Amino acid sequence: MKRVLLVEDNATNRKLLGDILRRAGYAVREVDNADDGIALALAEPLDLVVMDIQLPGTDGLTATRLLRADATTRGLPILAVTAHAMRGDEKRILEAGCDGYVAKPIAYKEFLAQVARLLAGAAAPRPEDA
Ligand code: MN
Repeated sequence: MKRVLLVEDNATNRKLLGDILRRAGYAVREVDNADDGIALALAEPLDLVVMDIQLPGTDGLTATRLLRADATTRGLPILAVTAHAMRGDEKRILEAGCDGYVAKPIAYKEFLAQVARLLAGAAAPRPEDA
């Protein structure tokens, strides 16, 4: 069973995304802030991180850069989730090291397709193609 870490501060969104992932057969760990997510990612084996970008305290882009800077988590796929749907934001998100991007409100089929794509080891889209 693939292990997915869900980092999302909004309880409603966390429950929604967690339920979608669990129903799809993934083992889900949930945290409501980036610092706990980073600590968990360094301590436990994971296959994917679903990272909300807008978080109180350490934001999702900073957390992504920190995970990319650590040898333990450098290769861990990260799927960004954000309310920011603007083109410039997507470029910024991919440049921070995220491997994919889905905008809220979440379309669950697209979300699960992105999760499956990253778990299959697909290459990150290049920022200039975003
Ligand atoms: Mn948030």
